[in-house]
Amino acid sequence: MNASDTTIAWNRDPLPPGPAQDAVIKGITGEIENKGFVIAQMDKLVNWARTGSLWPMTFGLACCAIEMIHAYMPRYDLDRLGIIPRASPRQSDVMIVAGTLTNKMAPALRRVYDQMPEPRWVISMGSCANGGGYYHFSYSVVRGCDRVVPVDVYVPGCPPTAEALVYGIMQLQKKIRRTGTILRG
Ligand code: SF4
Repeated sequence: MNASDTTIAWNRDPLPPGPAQDAVIKGITGEIENKGFVIAQMDKLVNWARTGSLWPMTFGLACCAIEMIHAYMPRYDLDRLGIIPRASPRQSDVMIVAGTLTNKMAPALRRVYDQMPEPRWVISMGSCANGGGYYHFSYSVVRGCDRVVPVDVYVPGCPPTAEALVYGIMQLQKKIRRTGTILRG
């Protein structure tokens, strides 16, 4: 494999385990053994690192949070994808809004979002976070968390399954790979 092949490998979505992935790893290993370095595009490398270490600031507000917790548990084990929940916004780069956002909670949600370092992303999980859901006409509920923070991915459902959330996270990874740059977001 030559340098341009290595560059092409960075441009692709991650390969599933198998002969194709083995060939890429073998090629990169050969490149390092021969020359002592590999050539890759800086922004692709940065995006690869970002998508492989998304640390969510969990915002479990109601029943949707149970499915979000389910996604972290051993069955789906988000840790293996580098997705590790953090209790501090200072250490987080993605916020999962899981549940009903009330008017009273909205300023706190915005404050936590503002405390997250850039680049940062938001996943809106479930009908309530997406648009108020069952409580759309309630006097006390925000009709969608996108009125308070900018949302990157909406996960539909009441509640969405853990699988749906995992799929939403993968869509966010795709979006970061497609639009991300090494500049701050
Ligand atoms: S979308 Fe459904 S499951 Fe999720 S917080 Fe609202 S009512 Fe609960």
